[in-house]
Amino acid sequence: TSFNIIGGGILGASTAFHLAKLGHKVTLIDECHAGQATGAGAGIIGPWLSQRRNKAWYALASNGAKYYEELIAMLEEFGETDTGYKKVGSLHIHDLEHRLEKKHELALQRQETAPELGEVSLLDEEETQKLFPLIAKDKKAVHITGSARVNGRNLRSALIRASEKLGVKMVHGVAELAEENGVVNGAYVDKEFYAADKTAVTAGAWSKFLLEPLGLQGLVEPQKGQILHFRINEENDHWPVIMPPSEYYLLNFGRGHVVFGATREDNSGFDIRPTVQGVSQVLQAALEIAPGLKDAELIETRVGLRPTAPEFLPVYGRIPYKEGLYIADGLGASGLTAGPFLGKELAQVMTESEGLLDPINYPVERAVKEITKDS
Ligand code: FAD
Repeated sequence: TSFNIIGGGILGASTAFHLAKLGHKVTLIDECHAGQATGAGAGIIGPWLSQRRNKAWYALASNGAKYYEELIAMLEEFGETDTGYKKVGSLHIHDLEHRLEKKHELALQRQETAPELGEVSLLDEEETQKLFPLIAKDKKAVHITGSARVNGRNLRSALIRASEKLGVKMVHGVAELAEENGVVNGAYVDKEFYAADKTAVTAGAWSKFLLEPLGLQGLVEPQKGQILHFRINEENDHWPVIMPPSEYYLLNFGRGHVVFGATREDNSGFDIRPTVQGVSQVLQAALEIAPGLKDAELIETRVGLRPTAPEFLPVYGRIPYKEGLYIADGLGASGLTAGPFLGKELAQVMTESEGLLDPINYPVERAVKEITKDS
């Protein structure tokens, strides 16, 4: 069986890698659009204390976090050590004491089913400052040792390089799906035809453009995220990730590289300009949480388009209206956590074997509809 994977962000790269590991012939087609979510995502892998209560989401995100150790070890076997992944732990801060205690309780509770979250402790202001010197002096925190950081770009590139070592053909360009009598049998890139028995759309926020010519409506929409990179004069390789109660977060890439993100701009369309309002929102939040950043050098603003599906829930599986067509999409704000694992699960579905999750809980019909005469 031959496979086309369209879209080479973290999800498509992982799908291609896992299919190739199973010994299949795979072509990975990627345009690497400006605004690729993976390229902008500086990620936190630590979903255990999220406010989200949706069970399907939690199953995906927690399995995603757990899968990282295995994946990183596998990539190392292919000589890929530059993955941008490091387990540094996380500090969850909150100004209200009782909320912090609740987080502590939740962490202990989650530890029972997810021992990979590591050790849990409640830190006072001094202990918090010791682990992360730039933080405001009045912050207490719940400390979790199993959280990690990952650099989306590095991990994606490592997955693609490992896939190529396994024989995956990488094609750069914009793909269009080819269909004959309701069967998707390949894709065109610049008039060149790439035949495949099965095709997966892992095109993030852009999937609707692939689906539309087949009479399908894609409901995944872009959500813009602006994220800032700073340089400080301190070695921060071991500093933990900081998770305030808001949607902002801070992480460190070592050698003084600090990242603070990110805006969540619904209805942004495909506008990938950094804006005054976006940057100022992030800067304001950064200084509130980590006033020690005031002298940091602002080195870069990255913008990415998170693929968001209805109800902010990812979908994956076969697209029922066509033969040979599959999709995984809608990873939203937790795609670096869930993407590598979901790619593996999609590879299982495409090869008709059982995965750890049941795709029935992530129905494709939520994000892909048939365009009928009435619609
Ligand atoms: P993308 O990475 O967007 O990749 C889609 C790819 O498909 C692109 O390369 C595009 O060019 C290609 N494509 C589209 N159409 C075509 C076509 N027709 N032909 C060829 N190629 C095509 N997640 C976390 O878990 N933790 C975090 O802390 C975190 N922080 C984030 C911060 C920011 C600022 C952003 C933007 C995201 C963050 N995320 C985080 C979310 C995560 O980055 C995304 O959910 C994830 O990267 C989505 O991956 P994807 O592969 O589905 O899509």
